[in-house]
Amino acid sequence: MVNLLTLAKYPFLQDAKIYVRNEGATVNELLTDPLFEHARSIAIERLENVLSKKDVGDRILSTEPERIMELFSYPLARIVTVCVGDDYFTRSYALSEAVHMYKNLLKEPLSFVFDVAKEFNLSVEYSDEMNEIRLLFTNYLTYAPTRYKKWKMINRKMDHGFISLSQKDLSRIIQEVLRKRINNELENRLPHNEALSVFSEEIARIKNKVLTQRKKHELLPLGKLNIEYLPPCLKNILSLIQSGENVAHMGRFALVAFLNSVNLSTDEILKLFSKAPDFEADKTRYQIEHILGKTGATSYKPPGCDKLKTYGLCPSEEIDEVCKRSFHPTNYYRWKWSKDKKKK
Ligand code: SF4
Repeated sequence: MVNLLTLAKYPFLQDAKIYVRNEGATVNELLTDPLFEHARSIAIERLENVLSKKDVGDRILSTEPERIMELFSYPLARIVTVCVGDDYFTRSYALSEAVHMYKNLLKEPLSFVFDVAKEFNLSVEYSDEMNEIRLLFTNYLTYAPTRYKKWKMINRKMDHGFISLSQKDLSRIIQEVLRKRINNELENRLPHNEALSVFSEEIARIKNKVLTQRKKHELLPLGKLNIEYLPPCLKNILSLIQSGENVAHMGRFALVAFLNSVNLSTDEILKLFSKAPDFEADKTRYQIEHILGKTGATSYKPPGCDKLKTYGLCPSEEIDEVCKRSFHPTNYYRWKWSKDKKKK
């Protein structure tokens, strides 16, 4: 059994779940028993930090009661997240828990990082001979942020199906596993009735803040671009990027190439990506300029509907009449633009 401090810092681990179960506290007790009042207030602190810091935040964990309350605040925070009932907030919460864990993992010995990786079903090994950490390449492809040059397979050493990486990079991979895991666990859950009433004020407050943040994103200045004319595929990619979600390379490529085709400048495009996790201005600028052909001989054209469908980026349930006649996101945008212009 891992010590209580570790469980408080990593409350999603199996040992933490076993601890909570062995303590015998029911969900209703967590929600109403005065014993857990402090855990309830930490749960809300976790969630408010999601919106203000994009990290669930640190608390002092010197004493046993502080550690226990921190640990119990985690299931409570998840319950309240479901009650908020907003996909954007659920995604932000999952990312914030994952980022918090990543920062903690950076201070841990390698043996602990390995334990967490194995619990998350990552095939990871340490080669004494080569003195290096190795991760199965399929795990790498699933979780690495390969849109960045450093993470591209071509810049990694591969041997017998394993990719060499640093402890920091392994922690970053684990961050992505946790983010996806929490998001998947919460996205289709139904709200807990008792929690809706116990946390009614806090839920309303969080919902308001989420709304304000969403509005801020919707109002992000996008130069000459009119978001209303965007086809569903690009609207989705844009919204994911602006809510701080990871977006696969093809999605980012499609958006950048499209924005270029409607004459947005590199700086205007860069501004959009500043919300993305792992945003690094210089690297992102380089990638944008590469797609736009400013750093090489080739300038890439935005992909059409067929290609976007092949990459699973066309939301078939959202296809509309304009989609059906357009065959290309750029045609879609132009059609909407000219139709609107004729009305004026
Ligand atoms: S049909 Fe084409 S334009 Fe419409 S959502 Fe799909 S990929 Fe985008």
